[in-house]
Amino acid sequence: MTELRRDPITGRAVLIVPGRNARPSEHSTVAPSASREPDCPFCEGCESKTPAELAVIAPPGREPNSPGWQVRTIPNRFPTVETEVVGSGKLSPVPFPFDAEVVSGHHEVVIETPRHSPQLPYLPLEQAVRVLRMCRDRTRHLLGLEGVGSVTLFENSGPESGGSLWHPHAQLVTLPSLTPAIEEEVRGAARFREQSSVSCAFEEVSRAEASDGRRVVVTTRRFLAFAPFASAVPYELRVVPMAHAPSFANATDPEVEELAALLPSLLRALLAVVPGASYNLVVRSPAAKQVDPDRYHWHLDLYPRLVRPDGFDLGSGLNVNTVPPEVAAELLRAERGAKR
Ligand SMILES: [Zn+2]
Ligand SMILES: [Zn+2]
Repeated sequence: MTELRRDPITGRAVLIVPGRNARPSEHSTVAPSASREPDCPFCEGCESKTPAELAVIAPPGREPNSPGWQVRTIPNRFPTVETEVVGSGKLSPVPFPFDAEVVSGHHEVVIETPRHSPQLPYLPLEQAVRVLRMCRDRTRHLLGLEGVGSVTLFENSGPESGGSLWHPHAQLVTLPSLTPAIEEEVRGAARFREQSSVSCAFEEVSRAEASDGRRVVVTTRRFLAFAPFASAVPYELRVVPMAHAPSFANATDPEVEELAALLPSLLRALLAVVPGASYNLVVRSPAAKQVDPDRYHWHLDLYPRLVRPDGFDLGSGLNVNTVPPEVAAELLRAERGAKR
């Protein structure tokens, strides 16, 4: 049972998820090179070791939960939020000044390839397209379910990413409300509009980044990729679609195809500049009823995990970033130019 608790002073929310540390972990710090790993539940041929699939991309004629798939979505066996909460609403009332509620939702795993390696940066283009199409379609599906207020789509890669398995996979976690991260963006975008007349703060920032240019890594037909002005961590990147849409669920097929080429190329550039870098990828999607669709503009964030927060970061609430985003963008641009 997952509880959302709020700090009585700051109001900062945390999820208390008992028992999640029981999940299996590979612990190895070296990225695998073999295409099969006998103990991996996500490898092709181990379908019986996972919960039954929720969605699949596979050639016609394949039996469910058998080999022969290309991308496979399953429920997470160790969910951050549970779909069926036993005793939901029965949380014994917490006395003032404490605040806690039981939250339920969905936690899915998108297994990106039947093979144990390579990882997303090195998947063939047509496979990356399948992965992103599945992620978009699952986001769309989850946002349409009753009681879903937001979807967080993410991928952990590498030993410092917080992930527990190497086999390439993305995850989706829903909450009944907006996440604090989306709330902060929505609040910030509203504040932005008080100071300027634009309707979409995200587009205004993209325009400003594009015209400045120093933090831009690449501009494609449908996307802008840049190191944000106030990057919290070294080599942080944001990818924003040129066309306005409130959610990744709205991404068109041409956008998905273009992103499937762009994103791995950005990851390869990062891994060339910082070999072995762990990272997290994140796409936040609010449900339509939770935000004004003209005011939220979806985007993908890449957070390399090269440093751990120290006492000053935690104590001050400030991230110390030792790589200015202008430098990060220049190095990543140079790497992309060198390779392609
Ligand atoms: Zn595997
Ligand atoms: Zn917009």
